[in-house]
Amino acid sequence: MTKKRSGNEIRQEYIDFFAEHGHTFVPSSSLVPGGDATLLFTNAGMVQFKDVFVGTDKRPYTRAANSQKCMRVAGKHNDLEDVGRDDTHHTFFEMLGNWSFGDYYKKEAIEWAWQLLTDVWGLPKDKLWATVFKDDQGDVPTDEEAANYWKAQPGMSPERVLYFGREDNFWEMAETGPCGPCSEIHLDRGEKYCDMQGIEGHVCGVNGDCTRFLELWNLVFIQYNRLGPNHLEPLPATHVDTGMGFERIVSVLQDVDSNYKTDLFEKALVVLRGLTGHSEKEMLADFTPYRVICDHARTSAFLIADGVVPGNMGRNYVCRMIIRRAARFGSMINLTEPFMAKVAEAIIETYGDFYPELEKNKAAILDNLTREEIRFARTVETGTAHLQTLLDKLDPAKNPVLDGHKAFDLYATYGLPFEIARDIAKEQDLDVDEAGFRAAMDEHRIASGGGKAMGPLGGEEAEFYAGVLKALQTDKKLSSEGVEYDPYESTSVQGELLALVSNGEAITEASAGDRVDVIIPKTGFYIESGGQVSDTGYIRSLPLNSENLGGAGGGSGWEIEITDMRKPSAGVIVHVGEVIFGHPKIGDQAVAEVDMQRRHDIMRNHTATHLMHAALHEVLGEGARQAGSLVAPDRLRFDFTHPEAMTPEQIERVEKIVNDSVAADMSVQPKFKPREEAIKEGAMALFGEKYGETVRTLTITTNDEHDRYSYELCGGTHLERTSDVGVFLITSEGSAAAGIRRIEAVTGRGAYDLIARRFKTLKQTAGALKSSVDEVPQKIESLQNEVATLKKELASLRSGSALSTFDQQLANVQTVNGITLLAVEIPGLDKDALGKLADTFREKYAENGVCVIAAPVENNVVVMATVTQDLIKKGIKAGDLVGHISRQLGAGGGGAPHLAFGGGKDVARVGEALASVPGWLEEKAK
Ligand SMILES: [Zn+2]
Ligand SMILES: [Zn+2]
Repeated sequence: MTKKRSGNEIRQEYIDFFAEHGHTFVPSSSLVPGGDATLLFTNAGMVQFKDVFVGTDKRPYTRAANSQKCMRVAGKHNDLEDVGRDDTHHTFFEMLGNWSFGDYYKKEAIEWAWQLLTDVWGLPKDKLWATVFKDDQGDVPTDEEAANYWKAQPGMSPERVLYFGREDNFWEMAETGPCGPCSEIHLDRGEKYCDMQGIEGHVCGVNGDCTRFLELWNLVFIQYNRLGPNHLEPLPATHVDTGMGFERIVSVLQDVDSNYKTDLFEKALVVLRGLTGHSEKEMLADFTPYRVICDHARTSAFLIADGVVPGNMGRNYVCRMIIRRAARFGSMINLTEPFMAKVAEAIIETYGDFYPELEKNKAAILDNLTREEIRFARTVETGTAHLQTLLDKLDPAKNPVLDGHKAFDLYATYGLPFEIARDIAKEQDLDVDEAGFRAAMDEHRIASGGGKAMGPLGGEEAEFYAGVLKALQTDKKLSSEGVEYDPYESTSVQGELLALVSNGEAITEASAGDRVDVIIPKTGFYIESGGQVSDTGYIRSLPLNSENLGGAGGGSGWEIEITDMRKPSAGVIVHVGEVIFGHPKIGDQAVAEVDMQRRHDIMRNHTATHLMHAALHEVLGEGARQAGSLVAPDRLRFDFTHPEAMTPEQIERVEKIVNDSVAADMSVQPKFKPREEAIKEGAMALFGEKYGETVRTLTITTNDEHDRYSYELCGGTHLERTSDVGVFLITSEGSAAAGIRRIEAVTGRGAYDLIARRFKTLKQTAGALKSSVDEVPQKIESLQNEVATLKKELASLRSGSALSTFDQQLANVQTVNGITLLAVEIPGLDKDALGKLADTFREKYAENGVCVIAAPVENNVVVMATVTQDLIKKGIKAGDLVGHISRQLGAGGGGAPHLAFGGGKDVARVGEALASVPGWLEEKAK
């Protein structure tokens, strides 16, 4: 190694090397997998290419190279507990990869890997080892092809090519689907890197137990399709998928023994040491907190840049947990003020050039980190104290595992994430039941209406339709592009009925009542994407004349009502519907017509969505970023990042701005252009959406045509002029998730319906109030005043009657350790009345008396306690007693030693709480 390369240089050299060999550089996809609900986070380089291997997606290139942002927070190969405790594990990491989609294969993949490592990066040839596949079960042929290519590389000795079985050298995407042998390159870093020196019987080796041999690069050769446990079929086209851990290769090329000692973390560690005042030597003596914080600051910065903010469920939970875990490790090195934003700034500086999303969202990243640290600081002490009480009851020898439901309670009540509870437990040789925690979390999620958002992959169906497509192409019924798609210009299309599919089988003729999938050569029906729902409509037989459209009785015509659209495989578009009448047959001439009234409603809502997005930026700032949307005929829904509820004034302003934009009659223009160009021009991209090389942009301009009002990437269908929106009304603003707000709105006909309904309600209200519509507010105000007066009178009557009957209650005292105790429930009393009763009690029992009264009112309980002076000296205090009871009612309270108030919401537990008072008093009076 002649010169020391920076991490950024190493990444760039990798990409440049493969670009020189004909590869297209493909930017990393988001950490949030686009259009894949089965995956929490992008966890491998292949996630964005999965559909290409399965055959449902096509790319304009056959060779690609990338550095993919990946995240793993749980699982066999990366338990969060390990992250920070050693030098190699990360929650976030980059995966370098080069890809061949039916293009080059083993020869080139191996040659190039060898050239890059030895020629470009100068790794010593005699220290590199290769492994190839040899089936330990004897079913799949040995990969001699790969072995021979390795042996042919200049400077590679045949003894350094080793054979390994399925566990190490066979790759599968899932139980079925594309798979194949893989080949790994390992580096012998020399004896000094062995962490098992001196252990009896230890021999260093490739895939061995020690840290001397490092796996650098895995080359996967996809050549089979697995149909079952023992059934492999050769694929018609073979692919290459390689993966090289970026942090690892950087540590090798910079010759350091820890990923955290590479320049990738250098700036972050300098910032941290500046905060703690530690020297480098002191830091290395207790490196774990530093490693945890660096790793977690990097992960959370990238997450927030991709729109994942701290929250309670799913991805948002992970973001929250990571920040909180880092904060806790920060407290171990005496960081008492929020510090994550400072570390994240160093991370952004290190990574910002290659990942511009970090710079772009810097303010949101820093702001979210600090907010989350402050939130956590408020609860962490109480939370850990409660955890400790629970852990104290466990016994490392007999029952070392804390119940998962209890751990979830700690999370729900004190915001203490499971992972932190487990960290703390493990520091005391105890553990926390993870399955129980997840189960409790799921129960909670389902109870709160979240549901589970994981579904199966439809591999079989994709294959079936790929077959249908192939047959139609062989018959020259469809071009190589498959079904033509033009939802913008062709909402009525004529063509031949090419295929009918019912219950997963191709049929030649259908009858009334059949549910069918229909394929025609071209369609103008929009397919759900970017939040806009699919079109509906009709496919009818031609010619359209009275004989043909005779309905159920006569004629040879037929009609299929289309209710949904799907794209089950690359090049295949199916109309999903039901035969209304007649017998549609393959070969019939037909016309497919989109329901244009519904489509217009959708277009109004979609154009209004863009206007509202722009208005939100105007009112709330650029931080209000889109986090999801739904464009339906009857309404639109828009989610965006914003830390707090919008004020009524802000909502009104957004509504007004949109309606002004509508009235301004701006023009709306779509245009296709290269993705890079559009992004450079500042077009806003949708969160979690996948984009091709060519994108459709949508520009809304004011009338001088040069003033761009809104500019977004969008494949949806739109109005030509904003005035066609009609009226825009916001119907609700609320929370969609932590840090994410949701607006629902209506336009056009939906807005008219809403206005008409509201007017009717208002008229009915006025009728019931016996007033005019204009007088409704005053009328209600005067009624409210009347109710308030009546309530006051009622309270005073109640307290009067309570006072007059309190004498009888006073006889119900009990004696605890010689102390007179009155603990009773009297409903409907307010604080004033309770204060009077306290006086009455102390008049009768001037000494040695304790009185506590719980007063439930609707969904609340007010608790009052009073203690005579002589007892206060003995340590019995009203404030403590109120606290003791209020905690049982789910809240808190306190006050002076002789008189205190508190309360809670848990009305059902009042009896139980009062019954616990004698025990409490006995304990105190000891
Ligand atoms: Zn060793
Ligand atoms: Zn759009």
